[in-house]
Amino acid sequence: MEQTLVLLKPSCIERCLVGQVITRIQQRGIIICGLKMMQLDEKILREHYAHLVDKPFFPGLAASMMASPVIAMVLKGVDVVEVFRKMTGVTNGRKAEPGTLRGDFCMSGQANIIHASDSVENAKIEINRFFRPEEVFDYTPANIAFYYGDGEN
Ligand code: UDP
Ligand code: MG
Repeated sequence: MEQTLVLLKPSCIERCLVGQVITRIQQRGIIICGLKMMQLDEKILREHYAHLVDKPFFPGLAASMMASPVIAMVLKGVDVVEVFRKMTGVTNGRKAEPGTLRGDFCMSGQANIIHASDSVENAKIEINRFFRPEEVFDYTPANIAFYYGDGEN
């Protein structure tokens, strides 16, 4: 099954939305395979947001991502990268559809509560960036037959 990397940003931690976001992940049937709290620094953010380091908003973005610890997660499911990006919603929370995490929980284009990998290739790179191999538990729930039909997973 596919895996994706998720960060609950300081805007999620500080606004006490962690439980609600994790509930939405689990109620969808997405499996949590890794979870930890960590304090990000400039070095990891320059790597993680390499596509944005030259943008004028990068210093503000980096500061917003270091304002508190984050919660990093590895999520697992069939097509989970695409499914979870859809659940996340578009970057600007004010434009995100109601029903998405950003569309339900934030009003900002920067303090938009969550990061999710945008491709299978980037998910692999990002999981390696934030997790050591022994921190990812690729387990299968005992009742997996109730998550997916025969041959689906
Ligand atoms: N961001 C920002 N201003 C912008 C665009 C992006 O502060 O004009 C921040 C925002 O927090 C976003 C992150 O940079 O989530 C990464 O941007 P990206 O375009 O990769 O969006 P995402 O994949 O998070 O939707
Ligand atoms: Mg992105």
